[in-house]
Amino acid sequence: MPISESMVQEIVQEVMAKMQIADAPAGKHGIFKEMNDAIEAAKKADQIVRKMSMDQREKILTSIRQKIRENAEVLARMGVDETGMGNVGDKILKHHLVADKTPGTEDITTTAWSGDRGLTLIEMGPFGVIGAITPCTNPSETILCNTIGMLAGGNTVVFNPHPQAIKTSIYAINLLNEASLEAGGPDNIAVTVEHPTLETSNIMMKHKDIQLIAATGGPGVVTAVLSSGKRGIGAGAGNPPALVDETADIRKAAQDIVNGCTFDNNLPCIAEKEIVAVSSVVDELMHYLITENDCYLASKEEQDKLVSVVMKDGRLNRKCVGRDAKTLLSMIGVNAPANIRCIVFEGPKEHPLITTELMMPILGVVRAKDFDDAVEQAVWLEHGNRHSAHIHSKNIDNITKYAKAIDTAILVKNAPSYAALGFGGEGYCTFTIASRTGEGLTSASTFTKRRRCVMSDSLCIR
Ligand code: NAD
Repeated sequence: MPISESMVQEIVQEVMAKMQIADAPAGKHGIFKEMNDAIEAAKKADQIVRKMSMDQREKILTSIRQKIRENAEVLARMGVDETGMGNVGDKILKHHLVADKTPGTEDITTTAWSGDRGLTLIEMGPFGVIGAITPCTNPSETILCNTIGMLAGGNTVVFNPHPQAIKTSIYAINLLNEASLEAGGPDNIAVTVEHPTLETSNIMMKHKDIQLIAATGGPGVVTAVLSSGKRGIGAGAGNPPALVDETADIRKAAQDIVNGCTFDNNLPCIAEKEIVAVSSVVDELMHYLITENDCYLASKEEQDKLVSVVMKDGRLNRKCVGRDAKTLLSMIGVNAPANIRCIVFEGPKEHPLITTELMMPILGVVRAKDFDDAVEQAVWLEHGNRHSAHIHSKNIDNITKYAKAIDTAILVKNAPSYAALGFGGEGYCTFTIASRTGEGLTSASTFTKRRRCVMSDSLCIR
């Protein structure tokens, strides 16, 4: 069989990859002391990725997916151990979700116009080296998911991860590069620094070789990125309300809301953070929350104690974020039964445990006099983030009215919030939901730029 040029190229790449595996110290793929060196390495890798066929990109993605599946439990345990947030079982599921449902190169599509004056295409081209800032709430999930999408789009990526999750982030970045090398790709498709700080983040944001920055985190980081003068994808904070009206299956609504709210101890930005229910169903909903869904009803005194522990000096106490309900209760001296999954109470929308994005399994229930009042209160509680909201209703007019008023990137109807990530719902997975800048649920195509390719007066063959 004659050997074609592309076959030779593939063999050369594979040999080079194996040599790189041998050269790099174990556990050090993609990890640098200095941010400028990390960017330089990602740029070199980008030169190789640019020359790859889509098929070669896809080969690396398959290898990455395999590595994630093999390491899901290790990553989940590392994440919980390092950050003290979330729970291992749910984090394992989140990693499998990333491996199975994050779109690859199939998301890179072409639009064509063909007519008397020729053929015009819009193609999705890579940006090159993308800068990405990631949160401590879903550290490896975000890094792995971002890299799959960014690489599928033909880019490499420089991460400035949350310092509190740096070990887990380094482990994930190392895996990504090992997967690339094993599939014949380059080292440094994803890179970071050993000690990420605001300074390394600034170097990244100002670097001439970074044209696009994806920020996943709270309002501060999104504002910083949007002020950088570069194009920014801003995946910011949420405070998703779950609205329940009188037409809902109340028993199922209670179950769905608790399942969504307690997933990974409420860390996902899309998770139910409070309930707004019309007055006529509040008592029934409370009944099902407490009797069938392992919720603990907090008294007024316990709510006050929770406020003082969870909101130290009016600021969110990081030591409480992502903790389970039993641990939170033990912090206020309550020894709750082992089965308790969530803390509930009824209160006004201004209650600090309701209006704040806590990222803990605490669900305040706000009573509304009717559906319109419920919509108004839910919109207020979402704080204009336009991130996520949920509704339990069988009235299509009500659902439509709510959807228009709340104007969020995600609106889940009659299911737990995680259905929005493709878990028990249709659609793909992402851990970067660009609520502030409007791209919505990011995927490979989000990380590309549109390029028009025109052939005038030819190639129309109709
Ligand atoms: P965080 O805002 O504290 O940190 C996120 C990242 O931004 C970290 O890497 C941090 O070091 C960096 N950062 C913070 N301020 C910065 C600044 N001024 N300049 C540069 N970098 C800065 O958030 P967190 O606690 O890690 O994560 C929780 C928050 O992120 C919640 O508000 C949650 O809703 C949000 N979040 C949003 C999404 C989404 O897809 N929209 C996904 C996950 C988390």
